[in-house]
Amino acid sequence: MTEAELAVARRVKGFMPDDEGLALHEAGLAGGEVGPLLEIGSYCGKSAVYLGSAARARGTVLYTIDHHRGSEENQAGWEHHDPEVVDPATGRMDTLPYFRRTIEAAALEGAVVAVIGDSPTVGAHWATPVGFLFIDGGHAEDVAMADYDMWARRVLPGGVLAIHDCFEDPADGGQAPFHVWERAVREGFEPVATTGSLRVLRKPR
Ligand code: SAH
Ligand code: MG
Repeated sequence: MTEAELAVARRVKGFMPDDEGLALHEAGLAGGEVGPLLEIGSYCGKSAVYLGSAARARGTVLYTIDHHRGSEENQAGWEHHDPEVVDPATGRMDTLPYFRRTIEAAALEGAVVAVIGDSPTVGAHWATPVGFLFIDGGHAEDVAMADYDMWARRVLPGGVLAIHDCFEDPADGGQAPFHVWERAVREGFEPVATTGSLRVLRKPR
């Protein structure tokens, strides 16, 4: 990554510690050799800078899906709420303006394609296989599992799957992403690396 990209990734709003972001970038470089990158959960674009930089290095793109209305846990009254991302005109969350500013500041508009919509709705009509999948959308059990259901089969053989916010110990956080990781392992993905709560797996060739 360039210093300028790193500086943007580090300063923008989001939920991606720098060490996990750098591990995500490495995973994106590996997956980008196999096919395009796809992220579920763009929020304000923080992880998309780490991944978009990897996509560009591999001559491919990052598709990043989000309805930009926030997960359950981002809504007012919940732990991860930020009143700044509420649209005063409607009272609803809208992280898209922040996302666009992030990608523009990182000069990654040529490598990062925003897909604005609900993940299962987009997935129902999606036809492009991917070399890399990052699951970081809603963290409720049904939402996280729906993302895996819809997208894991789109990963090409030899491609990479990354899952964020995996906590083996319930004392550290919600269990849904960890359950998704366990399911991925059961279904043949091979664990490759763990950095903080980021888990990286590979689909066998
Ligand atoms: N990757 C981000 C954090 C993502 S937060 C970072 O680096 O900071 C989770 C995001 O998932 C939220 O922006 C929320 O709007 C989105 N999300 C939750 N459920 C979704 C769904 N069903 N379809 C699309 N996006 C969803
Ligand atoms: Mg996350």
